[in-house]
Amino acid sequence: MRRSIVGYHQDDEAHWVAELECGHNQHVRHDPPWQVREWVVTSEGRAAHLGTWLECRLCDDPGPAEPIGFREVASAMHRAALVAQQLDLAAAELRLDLRREPTGGLLRLRCERVSRLQWLGGGATAEPGGEVTIATIGLERLGPGEPWRFYFRLAPPSELELACARCWWNGAEVTGVGRCYRDQPAG
Ligand SMILES: [Zn+2]
Repeated sequence: MRRSIVGYHQDDEAHWVAELECGHNQHVRHDPPWQVREWVVTSEGRAAHLGTWLECRLCDDPGPAEPIGFREVASAMHRAALVAQQLDLAAAELRLDLRREPTGGLLRLRCERVSRLQWLGGGATAEPGGEVTIATIGLERLGPGEPWRFYFRLAPPSELELACARCWWNGAEVTGVGRCYRDQPAG
């Protein structure tokens, strides 16, 4: 959710933290080459960014939700449209925003400690005005403490494989052990 910056302070390591209108805080580090925010190191730059907005994840995901079984997550993702993807290399975190109905709200998969991420076939691209949908999903975890492994086949055709230590579906931790595979022609 977009929240305006209303102030700043520094943390124990002298990194700058933006204070948002909602009462949440968010780091605004200048830590090149990972994060480049030269404006944050000068008082003029910080002043100029008062009133601009940041995405507040804490407002998007209020509090811990009940865990959700991985089969349910696979069902929800199958045939959903991939709306946005965001990879945070510094945090080894991947976020996928999806939508099941053209008018529906966004659904979010967040993968933490991503250990493998491979696009086969050039990544997700759609024609202008078109969309990328998840035609096939495989999701497995072979035992407690083992990584989650995802396989997606997308339309237009490309494939994504990823492995991560933990994942969340709309703020709820994904749990369970086993395998799930959903492959269905477009109806
Ligand atoms: Zn917030």
